[in-house]
Amino acid sequence: MSEKLFNPLEVWFIVGSQHLYGPEALEQVAADARQVAAALDESPQIPIKVQFRPIVTTPDEIHRTCIEANSAENCVGLIAWMHTFSPARMWIAGLTQLKKPLLQLHTQFNRDIPWDTIDMDYMNLHQTAHGGREFGFIGARLRMPRKVVVGHWQDKATLAGIDVWARAASAWHDLHGAKIARFGDNMREVAVTEGNKVSAQVEFGFAVNGYGVGDLVEHVNAASAKQIDDIIAEYKDAYVVAHDLSADGKMHYALRDAAAIEVGLRSFLTDGGFKGFTTTFENLHGLKQLPGLAVQRLMADGYGFGAEGDWKTAALLRAMKVMDQGLAGGTSFMEDYTYHFDPNGMKVLGAHMLEICPSIANGRPTLEVHPLGIGGKADPVRLVFDAPAGPGLNASLIDLGDRFRLLVNTVETVTPDAPLPRLPVARALWKPHPDLKIAAAAWILAGGAHHTGFSQALTVEHLQDFAEMAKTEFVLIDEQTTLFDFKKELRWNDLYYHMTALSGW
Ligand code: MN
Repeated sequence: MSEKLFNPLEVWFIVGSQHLYGPEALEQVAADARQVAAALDESPQIPIKVQFRPIVTTPDEIHRTCIEANSAENCVGLIAWMHTFSPARMWIAGLTQLKKPLLQLHTQFNRDIPWDTIDMDYMNLHQTAHGGREFGFIGARLRMPRKVVVGHWQDKATLAGIDVWARAASAWHDLHGAKIARFGDNMREVAVTEGNKVSAQVEFGFAVNGYGVGDLVEHVNAASAKQIDDIIAEYKDAYVVAHDLSADGKMHYALRDAAAIEVGLRSFLTDGGFKGFTTTFENLHGLKQLPGLAVQRLMADGYGFGAEGDWKTAALLRAMKVMDQGLAGGTSFMEDYTYHFDPNGMKVLGAHMLEICPSIANGRPTLEVHPLGIGGKADPVRLVFDAPAGPGLNASLIDLGDRFRLLVNTVETVTPDAPLPRLPVARALWKPHPDLKIAAAAWILAGGAHHTGFSQALTVEHLQDFAEMAKTEFVLIDEQTTLFDFKKELRWNDLYYHMTALSGW
């Protein structure tokens, strides 16, 4: 078996049947199930181990398997396939207990109907077409969040659907028990970056806790000269270092300060087992610069991040970073910054004061130091680059008081019309779908934040699968969006989530 990207995580492959057909048919079902599970497991398209489980034919077997899946530490979800008909009342005891994400694979062992030889024995063995519907009914009856993937198990599109779900399930798994460190509090008076941390922990499983900046400063001050030298050597390998930051440059001290911040931040996060963090320029006591370079590099290593105390974006970005492992393109913290309102092509310039992840850099970033008017600290060091052209998306997680909403807007990243020689920050330029006017109006109506997770690696389906697992409202702005329908969707969703809260669905 090939080494899987998400080791040691795994998904379980469970095939349902019943004893109606006799032992011979069950043996064939088991053999086919084993073959399909092995093919998924060996497929380079599937980034996670697919663990074959013995076929289930009774309520007890189903119940036991679901309970075992719940407590299996590395199991991130279940793939269920009904090779034959598996009466779905047998599944009630198990599915009502199941706590892991569920994917119904609606596939069939043979792709084609064998026109010349097909008989009733063949029909009885290859019953997905109706067995899968019986299983689907009980999922609908129980109002279970789940994904349904339809297609032959050797088809690339089928495997792609499983791949996306497995990534979302791994991110969902990763977020449970995840710790997010918040240095300082929220940017004063800002609304959208606030929210209910208790609700978030209940809904998504991650814990956010605050730390005094002094705790971080202790780690920064503990950075040794050798640690700083070593990390500066890494910078020289990876980036084009501006002359004034080089060893004989007049700002070299700023690079050493930035490197000390990276050493300290890394040791703080590693010691505490954190998966994400937030900073804010209003709480920097004892730090020489606003952390820029350090934040950029930690994001590139998979940490979630939110600026100005934005812990929801930090957690969302962490989940997106887990999902995008091994995919082409990067994922970054982002902010809608400035508009280009030219009627011949309206665009958004996305950036932040400093903190954009170099995983979205087009080419080798430059390492520069410039003054920053906000924060009242020394000039911070940062990586400067453009994001490459191509498809992407922005995702925002907001707290509406009674629920969370995950909002996604698909975009086309474009090359800047001209160089931006005086803009000393990393940036991405994009055309939102369907166009800037509709996208921005819809985003504003939905209450989407100015902070997002921006990705050129993930698709809408990744975020949608993730929202399904979290039972979180998912709202999409894409090429099909009209404001007329979008407003109705928001109103209807308010009603739907109010009703589900009352009914306990
Ligand atoms: Mn911001």
